Amino acid sequence: MGLPRMREPLRYNAFSTYLRERFGKRIRKIPLDAGFGCPHRNGPGGRQGPGCTYCSNDAFSPSSRPEPPPLEEQIAAGIRRGRRRCNAQGFIAYFQAFSNTYGPVPILRERYDVIRRFPEIRALAVGTRPDCVDGAVLDFLESYCAEYEVWIEYGLQSASEETLLRIRRGHTVAAFLETIEKTARKPNLKICVHVILGLPGEGHAEMTATARLLAGLPVHGVKIHHCHVIRGTPLAEEYLRGEVQPMACSTYVSCVCDFLELLPWQITVQRLVGEAPEELLLAPRWDRTKAQVLEDIQTELVRRESRQGARGPGVSYQGSGFRPSHPDPKTQSLRK
Ligand code: SF4
Repeated sequence: MGLPRMREPLRYNAFSTYLRERFGKRIRKIPLDAGFGCPHRNGPGGRQGPGCTYCSNDAFSPSSRPEPPPLEEQIAAGIRRGRRRCNAQGFIAYFQAFSNTYGPVPILRERYDVIRRFPEIRALAVGTRPDCVDGAVLDFLESYCAEYEVWIEYGLQSASEETLLRIRRGHTVAAFLETIEKTARKPNLKICVHVILGLPGEGHAEMTATARLLAGLPVHGVKIHHCHVIRGTPLAEEYLRGEVQPMACSTYVSCVCDFLELLPWQITVQRLVGEAPEELLLAPRWDRTKAQVLEDIQTELVRRESRQGARGPGVSYQGSGFRPSHPDPKTQSLRK
């Protein structure tokens, strides 16, 4: 019998490692649906927004989005599940569904304060759009920092203004930078940014430009997804007309590695591959599981004798040339 194979240390700064070191115990996220909408879909005053081209309409129709169970029930079930499946000893309440800052502060407080009933909750993570926060919301989120580690997760998806227009993100890169700059003035808030690789019209240059932008910003985490084509979306129509070609798995693995090599090591990597419900996923249909794709990414970094940050510019926020832009007029109107 041969010697057991030594496990190669991960070549990227995995969020799970960060959590273990930060809290000294096993921490798991509990994804929550607090019943918020999205200003890019259901605008103020009932205005219907266009939504992003990859976003499922169905998710917003009352028939396919039933009322979520009370938050207290969702959290209690998440704690039971985390304890049973992986012996978790602490939890992050992850307000995940849609834009979780889309509402007046008293409503946000009412929903977020549910976490106070659970001493097992150690941190709070809030997913939202960069054009859906203002000073009052940031002050509100900061008020939780005395008791919890607080993460705010902004969807950017791409650093290309052209791509954001094409996918109808409804905000600009400039608006995102403005929000990062405002959030960074609250040093207790941690920032995570979501990006998508393989968006329509994007090639290697655009994807690495997104990595280079993040590398120079005061962000603490990144979630990287591959571009999914979900049935019934405008993106699915583009795909069916042959205008969009999703990435092959091997290309994605290579792009992720290129992306990671440009990211400073201190940025935690919170996701490396997207997930979509099997029945809704039109493309790409990879014959690799999520675990296998993660393994492929690690294997590729080992093969390259590389790691996260290996080719990074090594710039700090101050030296990155990042300048907040002028306020984006669209951002202003959504804040109202
Ligand atoms: S911001 Fe999110 S929820 Fe809103 S339209 Fe885009 S993908 Fe859908």
